[in-house]
Amino acid sequence: MIARTKDAAFIAGGTNVVDLMKCGVTSPATLVDITRLPLNSIDADAKRIRIGALVRNSDVAHHPAVVEHFPMLSNAFLAGASPQLRNMATVGGNILQRTRCSYFRDPAAACNKRRPGDGCDAFEGFHRMHAVLGTSDACFATHASDAAVALVALDAIVEIQSVAGSRRISLDEFYALPGETPNVENDLKPGELIVAIEIPHGRAHRHSTYLKVRDRASYEFALVSVAAGLEFDGDRIDEARIALGGVGTIPWRARAAEDALVGTSGDSAFQKAAEIALAHAVPRRDNGFKVELATRAIVRALETVRHGA
Ligand SMILES: Cc1cc2nc3c(=O)[nH]c(=O)nc-3n(C[C@H](O)[C@H](O)[C@H](O)COP(=O)(O)OP(=O)(O)OC[C@H]3O[C@@H](n4cnc5c(N)ncnc54)[C@H](O)[C@@H]3O)c2cc1C
Ligand code: SF4
Repeated sequence: MIARTKDAAFIAGGTNVVDLMKCGVTSPATLVDITRLPLNSIDADAKRIRIGALVRNSDVAHHPAVVEHFPMLSNAFLAGASPQLRNMATVGGNILQRTRCSYFRDPAAACNKRRPGDGCDAFEGFHRMHAVLGTSDACFATHASDAAVALVALDAIVEIQSVAGSRRISLDEFYALPGETPNVENDLKPGELIVAIEIPHGRAHRHSTYLKVRDRASYEFALVSVAAGLEFDGDRIDEARIALGGVGTIPWRARAAEDALVGTSGDSAFQKAAEIALAHAVPRRDNGFKVELATRAIVRALETVRHGA
């Protein structure tokens, strides 16, 4: 039905799509309710965990296998929104939520993401919350999802289905940088449904955390966030995972920083790795503080994983 109907959209928890309909940002001609599809189970085995797209955010956060094997993901879901929203919001909807850029959410403002070629009022406007990594001259809005940051760090795979068949893509490759087409945010084609997220077990996945820095202690989006995981061989780092939220136009995997940590003994290398992660940042008038804040947050997250502090 969704493939045959022009301007149709899926609705899962509805916490994002209905919100955007109310602000006049989106107006799908047809909403297809997917909440009764059998996509709400979590299956875990020795190799991976598979989370159905309709599993609620709170159910992922509290699932024993997630808490034990992927603590950064449990932490990330618990850091998002409020308990009521987490009980409604689904995994598929969470990773597809739109940016919180206030100009995007205001139909009277110019926004290349909403109307390609329109211009961007955020560049001259107030852009304290905006991105410093992966930006373009067309758009520098941040990706809003906390969970997607952890999922990118964990090498998650997205399972997608449509009338044409099914396919899998890594979440890292799923998101698109804004470039000249900020309206294209990901690889999902019209009519395609996310059915599940699969996460492989990994040595650095178990010793991990998610640190979120925000203007108030709860019910607030990230200024900066860090998903970090470490695995040691003796006192040397054998494997590292770092992804950033609040600073990137997409959930930002910091692979060069991860590589810089491997083979080191930890603490002394954390600052260097953090600086590498932000090396290509493009700060602007109101959001320059994010470079230093993210650097410090990375160090703190890594210290927390290492020392359990
Ligand atoms: C006040 C407030 C505070 C919030 N704070 C945070 C926060 O701090 N951190 C955070 O990460 N999030 C936060 N959120 C966002 C919230 O987590 C998302 O709104 C929610 O996760 C979206 O899930 P949903 O199931 O309600 O999606 P919906 O609103 O139902 O859908 C969102 C989008 O995804 C599409 N979609 C949904 N499921 C599928 C699927 N399976 N396949 C293909 N397309 C699909 C829909 O068509 C729609 O375009 C906040 C939201 C609000 C309203
Ligand atoms: S930063 Fe991006 S989303 Fe925000 S107004 Fe500019 S083009 Fe739109």
